[in-house]
Amino acid sequence: MAVKPSTLAPELKRLDAMSPARLKGVGPALEKKLAAIGITSIQDLLFHLPLRYEDRTRVTLAARAQIGEHMQFEGEVTSCEIQFGKRRSLRCSLRDSSGSMTLRFFHFSAAQKESLAVGTQLRVYGEVKHGRGGFEIFHPEYKPLAQVNAETSDTLTPIYPTTEGLLQPRLRSIIAQAVDLVVSKESIEDYLPAELIAKLKLASLSAAITHIHRPPADAFGGWDRDAPNPGRDRLAFEELLTHRLSLRRLREDSDVQAAPQFVGENQLLRGFVANLPFELTGGQRRAFAEISDDLARPTPMLRLLQGDVGSGKTVVAALSALRAIDAGYQVALMAPTEILAEQHAINFRAWFSPLGVEVGWHSGKQKGKPRAEQLARVASGECQILVGTHALFQGEVEYAKLGLIIIDEQHRFGVQQRLALREKAAALQINPHQLVMTATPIPRTLAMSAYADLDNSIIDELPPGRTPVNTLIVSNERRGEVVERIAAACETRSQAYWVCTLIDESEVLQCQAAEVTATQLAEQLPQVRVGLVHGRMKPAEKAEVMARFKAAEIDLLVATTVIEVGVDVPNASLMVIENPERLGLAQLHQLRGRVGRGSIKSHCILLYQSPLSRNGKERLGVMRESNDGFFIAEKDLELRGPGQVLGTAQTGLMTFRIADIARDAAMLDEVKDAADFVLSRHPQVVDSLVRRWLGENIHYANV
Ligand code: ADP
Ligand code: MG
Repeated sequence: MAVKPSTLAPELKRLDAMSPARLKGVGPALEKKLAAIGITSIQDLLFHLPLRYEDRTRVTLAARAQIGEHMQFEGEVTSCEIQFGKRRSLRCSLRDSSGSMTLRFFHFSAAQKESLAVGTQLRVYGEVKHGRGGFEIFHPEYKPLAQVNAETSDTLTPIYPTTEGLLQPRLRSIIAQAVDLVVSKESIEDYLPAELIAKLKLASLSAAITHIHRPPADAFGGWDRDAPNPGRDRLAFEELLTHRLSLRRLREDSDVQAAPQFVGENQLLRGFVANLPFELTGGQRRAFAEISDDLARPTPMLRLLQGDVGSGKTVVAALSALRAIDAGYQVALMAPTEILAEQHAINFRAWFSPLGVEVGWHSGKQKGKPRAEQLARVASGECQILVGTHALFQGEVEYAKLGLIIIDEQHRFGVQQRLALREKAAALQINPHQLVMTATPIPRTLAMSAYADLDNSIIDELPPGRTPVNTLIVSNERRGEVVERIAAACETRSQAYWVCTLIDESEVLQCQAAEVTATQLAEQLPQVRVGLVHGRMKPAEKAEVMARFKAAEIDLLVATTVIEVGVDVPNASLMVIENPERLGLAQLHQLRGRVGRGSIKSHCILLYQSPLSRNGKERLGVMRESNDGFFIAEKDLELRGPGQVLGTAQTGLMTFRIADIARDAAMLDEVKDAADFVLSRHPQVVDSLVRRWLGENIHYANV
């Protein structure tokens, strides 16, 4: 394809600075459209990667057409007429040496009808369907054979993500020009150090780019997930490396900041530990020792605390908080939702009030005088630990002496939120330490990529005396039996949960469903005392129901996923989860963790809506087979992908253009080493790589 060589030559080395307007056919209007999808340079065009490919390298005989496949045919138009049926359509017959097929257009112009006149030789491409008179294609792409210049394309046809008003062929031709530049001049700058490319035997960047935009026809099989594909691997490696570099860079920025060193007597901490009704587990001790070490250093801690459901992360968080308070600093404890934050407030008040530590509460919903008073106590330093939602770091909250931020359930926050929080924290005089807790374990591959800026502590054991939960998968058609089972459990003075879920994130609908279920169950089980708790109840009402359940005045608690976190009633030994197929495995595991806390054998019934999809069957099967949160997390990633595991809306930096954490997991160790190598030996390429892959997406604090 033609390029304007005279104007391009001098800047060939700078494809990242060259505007797409330099390419043929790109005027101001198109330039604007490209900018709208983040393309402002020729380099951006080259890294705008195909979503998928179509195979137009072959012409198939009509007799060999296969229903459901996208295929290309050539033939002569033998009839072309408008049909008036239920819908007006233009119907053409196309015949080749082997047979014929029908082309059908529901929208067409007079000119189009003209161009499809009997006798015209055509090449067509489209999806083959089964029609009344044989094979049919609706709205095929077509061209008169006279206008087809090459025999057939000798490469697969890329399909790119595009935007309204920018048609696929147009975008394809622009990107093709950009690729021509690379092919003819080898001019794309490869930022990866040559030693690295040689050591890892990576494909060259220009070869990889050419391959990704123009794969040879026989590469089609190679786009399968598992088949080797050097071009794709090279780009995926560079992308993963860039993500890691950007997170490591953030970490390096943080490592040169000053943080308060917590030293001193730790009187509160000792008092708290002495009064705990149990011994800390070995895992808790190790995790807290690592945290303690960090907190005694003059640079900010950035640490991830992982542990299975019920492994006792909250206690470790409490110990860490007391370390800060003992040293005269304040703590902010943040949870992603109001409900989770409330649970923490209740727990921490129960633990800390006897020690004389003031626990405060702040959320977006708090209004008026209580809000003003609370903020005043935070600003004066009287409030030593403030619990709440992300409102803790918005606008008016001013801390007297914030020393530690604890974030619970990190993976609902996502990387972007974490960066934003760090930026806010950096605006404070001192840089607080940060402890990030996850509700359930994070797969190792995700921890290595999405959390590359954090150190890792793992609580690898459960407190003694827990009995593994027995999980059953039961169809909704057998709901009656499940209800009877509850009656039987409650007869033996045991308690049960019934969890209502909805795919719809709407809290209102979820709460309504729980209300209806509670009423029905109360009717079906007159001898059972049924309680209800959901997110739209007032905090005081919720607390009252929970207290009555804890005191065994309620036998069956119908709840929304509110109870996912923080609820702790050892006498509850049965849980029914409705529509479990709609939840992620990590969330199911978290819910199930509410039973199996006492010495009685516990059961969890996954009451699914039949029929269950194959994937759904497989996922619920994982729940039945395993009680190990680390194993479940890996399976969740495998079956749902990182977007779902991290929470789609909040994946932040975890949306990749070409890398696939599950597919490319084996690369991650090499990526880690390569990132260390680049940071220490070639730090000057980091910015260029980040600009290439992440664009303006990333903000560094304090740079
Ligand atoms: P998670 O890690 O899921 O957040 P929690 O911190 O909520 O777990 O702890 C679960 C339960 O285990 C709580 O009732 C807590 O008091 C109890 N617990 C925590 N540590 C221990 C321990 N070392 N021995 C016995 N029980 C413990
Ligand atoms: Mg917890």
